[in-house]
Amino acid sequence: MNSMKLWIEEAVEEILKRNTDRIVINSGKSISGRIHIGIFRELFICDSLRRILEKKGFNVEFYFILDDYDPAKRFPAYIPANYDKYIGVPFSDIPSPFSEGESYAEFFANELTSTFNSFGLNPKILWTSKLYKTPEMKNIIRTVIEKVDEIRRILINSVGETLNEEDAEEYRRELTGRYPVNVVCRKCGKMQIVDKGRITPNRVLNYIKETDEVVYFCHSCQEEFKEKLDEARLKLTWRVDWPAKWFLLKVTCEPAGKDHTVKGGAYDTGLRICRDVFGFEGPVKIGYEWLRYGDVDMKTHKGIIFTPREYLEIAQPEILRYLIIRTPPSKHISFRPELLPQYIDEYERFERVFFDRQPDASDEEKYEARVLYPLTIVNSNIQNIKPRLPFRFAIIFSQLKDIMNPQTILAKAQEVVKKIYKIPVITESELKEIEEMIRKAENWVLKYAPENYKINISKSISDDIKESLTEQQKTVIKKVIETLSQGEFTEEELQNKIFNIIKEIEGLNVKKGFETIYMVILGKKYGPRLGSFLLSLDRDWLIERLNSALK
Ligand SMILES: [Zn+2]
Repeated sequence: MNSMKLWIEEAVEEILKRNTDRIVINSGKSISGRIHIGIFRELFICDSLRRILEKKGFNVEFYFILDDYDPAKRFPAYIPANYDKYIGVPFSDIPSPFSEGESYAEFFANELTSTFNSFGLNPKILWTSKLYKTPEMKNIIRTVIEKVDEIRRILINSVGETLNEEDAEEYRRELTGRYPVNVVCRKCGKMQIVDKGRITPNRVLNYIKETDEVVYFCHSCQEEFKEKLDEARLKLTWRVDWPAKWFLLKVTCEPAGKDHTVKGGAYDTGLRICRDVFGFEGPVKIGYEWLRYGDVDMKTHKGIIFTPREYLEIAQPEILRYLIIRTPPSKHISFRPELLPQYIDEYERFERVFFDRQPDASDEEKYEARVLYPLTIVNSNIQNIKPRLPFRFAIIFSQLKDIMNPQTILAKAQEVVKKIYKIPVITESELKEIEEMIRKAENWVLKYAPENYKINISKSISDDIKESLTEQQKTVIKKVIETLSQGEFTEEELQNKIFNIIKEIEGLNVKKGFETIYMVILGKKYGPRLGSFLLSLDRDWLIERLNSALK
């Protein structure tokens, strides 16, 4: 019946074709500054594959390589200006500008990885600077040196193809006469110089097999050095570094951004090097489109970023997992914090579909939810829908501090949750989550909420508003008071009741009828959906407020 196949199922199929019982899923990130949430696209893809494959009984390793061994080309604006002296130095060797005892790379890497637990991520973390110290990597470098002609041929063929004739010639010249191996100068600690944007790396110029020594030239010191290969601080140029790591870790699958995964790009070149030079098949390629922030690409060096920590201040990790996992990697995602309520509504629908509580769900939707929903949750042990305070309520509760004390707000919030989920009591952990939700909503309202979500309840109704009320509007208020005094409603019931009250009043249009209530409570013509809004307020306070409009 169902012929649809989801992106993740296709990826899993490709991986299984490799016919290996130990599966290695790899991901990596250069640490040149604060890291934005874009990296989660790659990490959630990896983590989803891991979960599915582990469930199928495979032994899965999930690595996240922090590329701390790259040399600094430039620094973002939030880094002190005197850091320019470190340009050309690997990030692993640069001190952190904000903490003692850590390197630049460690500081920003920790800022990212310290959020992993909250997002349900648990990869094994590897550092490039440390990988390059291992005897295995030293041997790979020896292989690269030995087979340098083969590598040059591959690079000239694939990279050269993308260049015009002149640049291709220059590239060819650049490749010949030196090895694709960069060196951290033992005297000045630099791996490259950057002059007016032009990068000149310190390359290995010669290898002396008899003594296992490399000869290199440092452009900063303007001096030639000779060192034992084992002692020299070497790093393969990045088009070779990538396949070298695949071979070192025996990577089965690695996602990468569209810039590298285009046909003939660095990924394909890497695969050729991996096969022809190292004799290893290389990973299954998954290319993905960017995760953008609104309409802009996030760029570490330009300071256009939205970090995982900033995200956690306003939303649950599941929402981001959902957005990323439900969107096929071939499509770009624009994360817009102002649309958070909409994302949450979508997610909660997806959740109901999974738990078979959404009668209008299509077969496709059901299929998608069955496969993908479990991948969206942080703790992969799913029991049932978790009672939680809907965000639309949290938004309101977070703004009622002026008229209700915190205990009353929390008590109202619990009532709402009990009613929605038809549960008699709220557990300790559910209560914690209710508080957390209100806190996130408060931050969201402060930083990102569109005007119509903002509530500002005045202590009393202005005389202007009172005098402007028509007889019909006064009738609305009276009838709403009556309704509220009658008993308990769900938000839907209350919304419908008010709608019907307004409709029955002759000569009053519906919009104006609703505006009446907003004017009396908020002093403006609009606000959050009335059903949930009124239920969030203390009933006695609300009735008194409505009554005072009639005096
Ligand atoms: Zn030097």
